[in-house]
Amino acid sequence: MERGRSRHPLWDRDSDTWFCLHCNGKITGVQIAQNLWHCPACGASPVDIFDTAFWCEDEGKSLPPIGAKGKSNSSKPDFQVVDDRPKLELSERNIVLLMRSALLDDSTDVSERLGALLAEITVDEDNDVWISLEEDLWPDHKEPTQAIKVAAQLGIEIELETMRSKIPFHWPGLGELTSSTTEYTQMLLDAYAQYAAPSDSKS
Ligand SMILES: [Zn+2]
Repeated sequence: MERGRSRHPLWDRDSDTWFCLHCNGKITGVQIAQNLWHCPACGASPVDIFDTAFWCEDEGKSLPPIGAKGKSNSSKPDFQVVDDRPKLELSERNIVLLMRSALLDDSTDVSERLGALLAEITVDEDNDVWISLEEDLWPDHKEPTQAIKVAAQLGIEIELETMRSKIPFHWPGLGELTSSTTEYTQMLLDAYAQYAAPSDSKS
């Protein structure tokens, strides 16, 4: 076949110029072959592509080439356009974020909320997730049901374990008495005040 010519897969005809019945586009042989015989301008299927615009009086001589409209001017066919539709990216960071957010949903008091914030969440190469919850902050009988549900929504496995690490404040039980951080902070201040050095408490 001559350079620039292409053969229609249905009509078994060669041409260097093709016409789209759907949008009246005039298409080069290279353009139509690169676009798998779909019109690069309007996406019409191969049954709408002909080597003569038999529906025009001049058989398409006066029809503008599709490249003239600008969009299909490049040598790259349209189907290679980058797909930039929004997709849920299940990166390690995003999984950890969603799991920690779910743990916060599961938290009913300040202690559990601190446990959720300090939980060690790791994601393995299969996107399965390990959650280590601090035993002084998260009750060991308590299932994080929201976290388990979110894992199921994402189609990932979840493993739970307890850990014992250095907790940030003394008397972890104080955090179980309230769900308000201001109340908790006041309790902490009062409790620590009882242990103030004698020189601090002299008036
Ligand atoms: Zn077309």
